[in-house]
Amino acid sequence: MKICVVGGGLSGLVSALELAGTHQVDLFERKPVPGGCLGSYRIGDYWIEEYYHHCFAGDAALLDLFDALQVADRLVWLRGSTGYYVDGTIHPLTTPTEILRYPHLTLMEKARLGLLTLRSRRFDVQALDGITAKDFILDNLGSGVYSSFFEPLLKSKFGDRAGEVSAAWLISRIAIRSDRGAGGERLGYLKGGFRHFVARLEEEATRRGASIVPDTPVEEIRREGDGWVVDGKSYDAVVSTLPPQVTADLAGLDIARIPYQAPPA
Ligand SMILES: Cc1cc2nc3c(=O)[nH]c(=O)nc-3n(C[C@H](O)[C@H](O)[C@H](O)COP(=O)(O)OP(=O)(O)OC[C@H]3O[C@@H](n4cnc5c(N)ncnc54)[C@H](O)[C@@H]3O)c2cc1C
Repeated sequence: MKICVVGGGLSGLVSALELAGTHQVDLFERKPVPGGCLGSYRIGDYWIEEYYHHCFAGDAALLDLFDALQVADRLVWLRGSTGYYVDGTIHPLTTPTEILRYPHLTLMEKARLGLLTLRSRRFDVQALDGITAKDFILDNLGSGVYSSFFEPLLKSKFGDRAGEVSAAWLISRIAIRSDRGAGGERLGYLKGGFRHFVARLEEEATRRGASIVPDTPVEEIRREGDGWVVDGKSYDAVVSTLPPQVTADLAGLDIARIPYQAPPA
């Protein structure tokens, strides 16, 4: 099949890598350098990530890809450190002991929080999709845990949409980030930055036959017969990695408009 991949972020590059070899693949990326949210900019000899980036010990698919693309030797595991700034004091919250010492939760609230963390991997997260994280925490852990612990975190990540975030996201996040021993959480970084990983994805997808075309924003996707036309070129299938509403607008499709927060273009 002739397949067009729209967007050269991680999803687009991995799609191109998986499809190339068995299909004829063109990938179009709007920016001069692929990477998307995982992109980097250059200063002298260095590539600097545009946003903070690390991986977790439980990111099995990503770690397999690091091995397959021979970037695993760049992986270093560092201890992350977290603190809460309350009324002029920074309270370290990296290790379980520090969490136990945190003065803005009662012992009972800490016990409930600990229990939820332990149970987080066993939840049916799909069943939580229709419940907000706020309601879930208020119902299960009480208002103190919400206002002193989760609300500031949700607000700093999601701004004025913090109250709309799903409990499915929060519980999945707790499950992935609760994998910490007595010393705290281990976070994986690539020496020299994630640019090396993005470059290896590009290189390997290209070696398998994909054509990766930067600096080329897709402007129109339209149905024609059994196939699709992307900016005048015919394809059997299109993989769009853009937000659903952007894809809907480009392709004139009726796709549910999912609320979406994105970094500045
Ligand atoms: C601040 C921040 C920190 C993060 N930290 C982490 C972290 O530490 N660990 C982690 O695992 N994840 C992290 N993430 C999440 C991770 O970066 C994203 O989940 C992932 O990079 C998304 O990849 P994507 O390909 O789905 O989307 P995107 O990266 O958004 O890729 C979409 C691509 O499409 C391109 N595009 C847009 N419009 C067009 C068009 N019309 N035509 C052609 N191309 C177009 C864009 O330029 C972009 O390259 C972070 C995200 C952010 C924003």
